[in-house]
Amino acid sequence: MLNGIDSIFAHVDMDSFFVSVELIRHPELRGQPVVVGGGRGSRMGVVAAASYEARAYGVRSGTSILEAKRRCPGLIIVHPNHLLYEAVSRSVMAILREITPDVQVLSVDEAVLDLSGVLRLWGPPMWIADRVHRKIEREVGVPCSIGIARFPLVAKLASKLAKRNGICMILPRKETAFLYDHRISLMPGVGRMTTAYLKYLDVFTVGELVARAPLFWERLLLTRPVENPFPKSISSDLTLDRDMDDREAVSAVLRNLCRKVASRMRRKCLKAGGISVRVRYGDFQAFEQHQTRTELRYDFEVIRQAERLFSLADCLLLPIRLVGVRLSPLFVDGGSRPLTVGNRGHAVAAVYRTMDKVQKKYGRNSLFQGR
Ligand SMILES: [Mg+2]
Repeated sequence: MLNGIDSIFAHVDMDSFFVSVELIRHPELRGQPVVVGGGRGSRMGVVAAASYEARAYGVRSGTSILEAKRRCPGLIIVHPNHLLYEAVSRSVMAILREITPDVQVLSVDEAVLDLSGVLRLWGPPMWIADRVHRKIEREVGVPCSIGIARFPLVAKLASKLAKRNGICMILPRKETAFLYDHRISLMPGVGRMTTAYLKYLDVFTVGELVARAPLFWERLLLTRPVENPFPKSISSDLTLDRDMDDREAVSAVLRNLCRKVASRMRRKCLKAGGISVRVRYGDFQAFEQHQTRTELRYDFEVIRQAERLFSLADCLLLPIRLVGVRLSPLFVDGGSRPLTVGNRGHAVAAVYRTMDKVQKKYGRNSLFQGR
């Protein structure tokens, strides 16, 4: 089923987490309308988490306690114990890390697991999800819902569908169909600004976006839920351990920063239309040089431009304290052949695709292009 699919993610989301933890300590509250929340002293505060029984009365997290009591007269209010929730959260995350080291913790009760590299070890994704689900229930005693999909973002939406206490997998190549009628504003990562902009373009649903801007949609799909899908720039700078006179040594540091920003950019399927390099001296004077109207994708392209800009920016005979590189503006990389490498473009793209994969698995220093 997963032939030709090179990524698969699981999104694990605890069900009304704070309440579930309280129910371990207070089993007598099971089946009752319970909320965790409330304020100190005379402040009434808001609901931080509501049991499903309380939700049936229209009580949600964020509802004021006053309003919650009005909607559900028998409501039981438990004061939050965040240290406890964090401790339980750590046990849950530890179970997830037994499956794969690639666990991205999104919040105290949510995480994304990259299962791509561990299928051979553990078996099909549904098996893994079932295993995780049972283990958390058995060892920690709290229920969770798990979504599985090729993209973290879709996995997150699938876990909502799996509520409560279930597992839901969106099959490869069915993602867009699954989300077709979904309002764009419900997508993680699509905030107020993006929603407003899309509204201005008369785009409200995923289906409309797919029709109008398929590349934009692909970008969204590839985004991890906590990342900004449309960064305006990607930059990296380094304050050197000590001020350095040796230009070749500083250049080596700069090349390393270039590899870092270039690989981050490619991971987001972006290309750069400009680059700038910054140099700061021991006496804190700083100089910057830009190049715009360019097209950069690969390490060697970024390095070539950066070294040229560095030689221009480095205009004082002083020891250097800091060096930095910044890629901006960024555009969605539609995969057209880069002009700079002529008809070797496809081969170069293939080499970098492979390199990016190796780096993703073994770390950024495992493999990179030499000079
Ligand atoms: Mg949750």
